[in-house]
Amino acid sequence: MSRALIRIAVLHFSHETVTFLPNDTTLDDFVYPGSPASGDALLAQAPKSYMGGFVRVAREHDGVELVGIESPLWPRTGTGSGWVTTEAYETLVGRMLAGLRAEGPFDGVYLCLHGAMAVLGVPRPEAELARRVREVVGAHAVIAATFDLHGNEDEAFLRHADLAFAVKYFPHYDDHLQGERAARTLLRAVKGDYKPTHVCLKIPIISATVVQWTGGASPWMVLVQRALIWEAREPDCYVNVFFGFPFADVPDVGMTIQVTTNASPELARTVADDMARAAWRQREALLTATAVDTIPDGVAATRAAVQRGHTPVVLADHSDRSGSATWLLREIIAQDLTRTLIATIADLEATRTLRQQGAKPGDAFDMEIGGRVDASAGEPVRIKGTVLNAIEGHGQFWVTVSFGRGNVLMLSSYLVQLIEPWSLRDIGLDPHAFDVFAIKSRVHFRRGFEDSGFAKTILLVEPTQPFLGTRRLDALDYRNIDLKQFYPYGNPNYPT
Ligand SMILES: [Zn+2]
Repeated sequence: MSRALIRIAVLHFSHETVTFLPNDTTLDDFVYPGSPASGDALLAQAPKSYMGGFVRVAREHDGVELVGIESPLWPRTGTGSGWVTTEAYETLVGRMLAGLRAEGPFDGVYLCLHGAMAVLGVPRPEAELARRVREVVGAHAVIAATFDLHGNEDEAFLRHADLAFAVKYFPHYDDHLQGERAARTLLRAVKGDYKPTHVCLKIPIISATVVQWTGGASPWMVLVQRALIWEAREPDCYVNVFFGFPFADVPDVGMTIQVTTNASPELARTVADDMARAAWRQREALLTATAVDTIPDGVAATRAAVQRGHTPVVLADHSDRSGSATWLLREIIAQDLTRTLIATIADLEATRTLRQQGAKPGDAFDMEIGGRVDASAGEPVRIKGTVLNAIEGHGQFWVTVSFGRGNVLMLSSYLVQLIEPWSLRDIGLDPHAFDVFAIKSRVHFRRGFEDSGFAKTILLVEPTQPFLGTRRLDALDYRNIDLKQFYPYGNPNYPT
């Protein structure tokens, strides 16, 4: 066996933390069958995403050895949990660094990250991870990372790491492509063929994620297109447009431009300045281009669309961050919608009870479900119907219940974003059985429901109350930033 010439450590640590939720993300949430993962299991973890792209391209090169270091996968709570505890961060990072020390030395490190993790007592968790990894691997090693565009980042990360690649599209279609870029550029940097220089600029714009869709003629796509043009016209230039994740109360929240070039600081400066100014000029359009209805108006518009035959209709309550909100379900019952799938109402207690009772198809169902967890979730709603299915999967218990005229309620343990209509077959549902899909997703659902050609009508709704998850960021109790320093809540001074 020939000796590997280039050894690359691969690590994973990702979360998008909603710090305004009451339930912390604990160590236990990161530990379940399959997580933490190491070795080939980690490398094979998401073949169509960042990791898959990275591994595929790294393996195109001779003499490259990839070493999967024991790393946690996403917590079982998905995106439905609050502050990551200090214990979880310190324990998991401690184990990752121990693995890195034991398996080293390394010429390079790949960090598969998200960027919107928020940890109690660690203001910039991704940058802090990079700092500690650097201490272990030394100055000579090249550290590259991939990010979600929802990352809250500033210049701290690239002080300790060399390369960062963020997805450009929302829904995030290009995650595997960014993984491929990370591998190619990391290997070039290890060989001395790419010498990264960066410019990172914070832009004082903060926005709810529902407005950040990059489809159609969206102003967000106009901004991304500008980044793509810079990358096309300047070889070896990489432009990250972080839209930011406003539901994490962290000091580096908000929009960020990062530009990396090959030993050309002037070019990095030119491109970063241009991107920042373009974003600032378009700030009003970025914030206002997406229409969101009240829940009663959205349900009424759904009835009208069904009458005109413009089905299937997607009715997305984008604002529900716990997954337990019942406002839309209540209105669907009040306005007597039919052939409607409600997917999902998250109710950990109810699914626990149903699991203990051994719920099975055909059982009569009569329960109060949802609500309760916080004011944004509202009150529980009583549903009387018949259990269609009850199954275990993805660390959750799932129960479907038929009620009303052709309606189905899907209960889950945690927040679920239904993204692909065909995934409903896993729980025994036929997507063609419904005129209306009432879901909890902001933008990701457009992958399966809009960009696939499935839905004829798309409506976004949110409650009129300024709850967590709505566009009303001014109702949130930020402790680590002053919202007045951000457009549209203040008038920050910014060059145009
Ligand atoms: Zn994202």
